[in-house]
Amino acid sequence: MLPAHVYVHVPFCARRCVYCDFSIAVRRVVPVDEYVAAVASELDLRFPAGGGVETDTLYLGGGTPSRLGGLGVSRLIDEIRRRVRLGGNAEVTIEANPEDVSAEHVRAWRDAGVNRLSLGGQSFDDDLLAWMHRTHDSGTIVRAVEIARREGLDNISLDLIFAVPQRAAGSWQHDVARALELEPAHISLYGLTIEPHTVLGRRRQRGELTDAGDDTYEHEFLHAHDTLGAAGFAHYEVSNFAREGARSRHNSAYWSGCRYAGLGPSAHEFDGESRRWNLAAYSEWLSAVETGRDPIGGREELTAENRRDEAVYLGLRTVDGLGVSEEELARIAIWAEAGWAAIDSDRVVRLTPRGWLRLDALAADLTLFRSRY
Ligand code: SF4
Repeated sequence: MLPAHVYVHVPFCARRCVYCDFSIAVRRVVPVDEYVAAVASELDLRFPAGGGVETDTLYLGGGTPSRLGGLGVSRLIDEIRRRVRLGGNAEVTIEANPEDVSAEHVRAWRDAGVNRLSLGGQSFDDDLLAWMHRTHDSGTIVRAVEIARREGLDNISLDLIFAVPQRAAGSWQHDVARALELEPAHISLYGLTIEPHTVLGRRRQRGELTDAGDDTYEHEFLHAHDTLGAAGFAHYEVSNFAREGARSRHNSAYWSGCRYAGLGPSAHEFDGESRRWNLAAYSEWLSAVETGRDPIGGREELTAENRRDEAVYLGLRTVDGLGVSEEELARIAIWAEAGWAAIDSDRVVRLTPRGWLRLDALAADLTLFRSRY
């Protein structure tokens, strides 16, 4: 049966951004009917009993879900509702690119039950947006926020990318300031990492560019933490900031280790004991569900050790923190002394922003320590 959190991957994009290594399908014309029917088939095939519990969060991610348009999103959610008990208080998020946000689309999304918009702004620097091969400029981001708000969709999250090579001096500070002017409820930051199989990866291999570097990464991350914190945002997870009551419930479910379902090409799923993922290529996923086969691409059973390591990583990435043992306190004291963590009287350790910059290394340090007990 379906768990309370459902992710649907919508793979379509107008073109590929230079840093992107996601599983996407570049389409000028989106095959809406084909895709919506295939998601419905996957639900029937894999969850014939439908929703076991009321769905608390539905997240349309991508790719670019907004490329389905108003009617496409509405039909997708209708098909899901026919098979799932979507709670009256459910958080329903759509990821959108700014150029897809029109009054007509927002009205259709709202009528279908969407109540949270995650907007892929990335930057307000038009030169940088063009360099990233994004399909919008900064003016389009501003218009998208205005339209969404006017149409009553004001639970808006804005994505920004930092640690971008070739950025002009002051451009990141300008991005953070412009994001604040738009008064979103939530902001997500992504530090750019250059993956080998991307346009940037190939340029780096040819020696045409280098990574932004650790100092830039740290400086920009800490600038965002200080500025957004001063403006009233809680830095509640390593990459996420929210106004009071505006934390992402869907992503918080991931970070709390809850079960979730994943539908669509490349979507990941967690059933409490194992992780599975769907075939990544749109054509392969489509062909599987159209011929009545489970579109599974792989599965990983989590051992007790995997789960212990994951609990450490998840606990350290949010402000909820991680409970530690008496034996671990001396280890954590070293982190605290370095300014990377704080520990409270209940032995809950929380990383500081400087600690989050070293999240992987600190999680590895603690899991290694735990493995010896
Ligand atoms: S819009 Fe998002 S998913 Fe699509 S190519 Fe750009 S980064 Fe990748």
